[in-house]
Amino acid sequence: MPETAQEVLKMIQDQNIQVIDLKFIDTPGIWQHLTVYQNQIEESSFTDGVAFDGSSIRGWKAINESDMAMVPDPKTAWIDPFMAEPTLSLICSIIEPRTGEPYARDPRSIAQKALDYLISTGIGDTAFFGPEAEFFIFDDVRFDQNQHEGYYHVDSIEGRWNTGRKEEGGNLGYKPRYKEGYFPVAPTDTSQDMRTEMLLTMAKCGVPIEKHHHEVASGGQCELGIRFDTMIRSADNLMIYKYVIKNVARKYGKTITFMPKPVFNDNGSGMHTHQSIWKDGQPLFAGDKYAGLSEMGLHYIGGILKHAPALLALTNPTTNSYKRLVPGFEAPVNLAYSQGNRSASIRIPLSGPNPKAKRLEFRCPDATANPYLAFAAMLCAGLDGIKNQIDPGEPLDVDIYDLSPEELSKIPSTPGSLEDALEALEKDHEFLTSTGVFTEDFLQTWIAYKLDNEVNPMRLRPHPYEFALYYDC
Ligand code: GLU
Ligand code: MG
Ligand code: MG
Repeated sequence: MPETAQEVLKMIQDQNIQVIDLKFIDTPGIWQHLTVYQNQIEESSFTDGVAFDGSSIRGWKAINESDMAMVPDPKTAWIDPFMAEPTLSLICSIIEPRTGEPYARDPRSIAQKALDYLISTGIGDTAFFGPEAEFFIFDDVRFDQNQHEGYYHVDSIEGRWNTGRKEEGGNLGYKPRYKEGYFPVAPTDTSQDMRTEMLLTMAKCGVPIEKHHHEVASGGQCELGIRFDTMIRSADNLMIYKYVIKNVARKYGKTITFMPKPVFNDNGSGMHTHQSIWKDGQPLFAGDKYAGLSEMGLHYIGGILKHAPALLALTNPTTNSYKRLVPGFEAPVNLAYSQGNRSASIRIPLSGPNPKAKRLEFRCPDATANPYLAFAAMLCAGLDGIKNQIDPGEPLDVDIYDLSPEELSKIPSTPGSLEDALEALEKDHEFLTSTGVFTEDFLQTWIAYKLDNEVNPMRLRPHPYEFALYYDC
């Protein structure tokens, strides 16, 4: 894979590539793209960018100041396997064409600023991130009540709403029951071949692949494992991950959702995020404290836990995110940390004697997050913990779900709704802005966008379950 602009240009020439697809992320986290003929890309494109109209991008510029430029990162070149013509794909950051400065609302530039900030503190020079994004495979874009075959086999989603609990008994003909999808072989597992194709396609796109498996939820919930990487590359990899998974599924006549809680009463989909900081090639989170962590690692945890309610407005940024963060489905509910205990929102995985593997896993995030914003925000929270030596308190080495209500009341909980998380972000965001990583303008735009386009429209609509509750009143 090429590393420099010259190497990309040579690749275009050597392989006689005629079209180049330039991809960039919008604020909510969806890839947008512009395809250009090969004569539009020259060495200066990699510094001055390729011009485009940014006025219609969600949360970006107004129509009267719409000129933008996207700057391809030569290290992200890959041949897009879903296009008929050989097409070189490049992931871009956004700049202001007049000044050449990174655009303050461009998520990928925000992630770069977080990395620059890490280096400027002298604490570390590299942040590694490893996201684990779960997803569901469904037959169709709609929840069709008559759909009994394949990946979504619930008789009626309405039925679940009405009863609150729908028991499946007797012989299901190999279909996994609720929460029993982890992880029998075929014919119970019906998506093996699709997942293998997803994994191998990702490898062709340059993503370091590791494994795939069915997940706990019954209706085709799956996860593919990709190797951790440096922060921005890991966010790039996650975008390729989502792109490949959705497009391979499409070939099979299926759709994918990364919605955190698409099915009531079954497990939801998280995006646990492993993270560690390094300096001069040395891991900084390994030490002789709790769970083999260093003091710095514990302070990083302290920062994440302290800022978690605000952080979740970026790591769990949808109204649906908070339907996942409830007890009983392996999703974290309490803001605590523990070694090995998956009911805590931060877990320190058993990583063996190699200090390089020492990391923490923040289990709250889900894949509706924009990875560049989520990773940048988590890094800022952790660094705030290190700089201010924030004590994370005592670890919780019991199953949090088994604690009495009184014991439980002492542990802070995750916010109950997107609105609560946005309110927490409104009150607590200095750890994001004082670093120069996020601007006040960006965060206010984010909060207003989420309230106007998601929280309030949801609140205004009658919910189907309200009909079950109130129709007969
Ligand atoms: N699906 C679970 C969640 O919502 C996680 C299950 C797992 O540990 O893989 O976080
Ligand atoms: Mg999982
Ligand atoms: Mg995990």
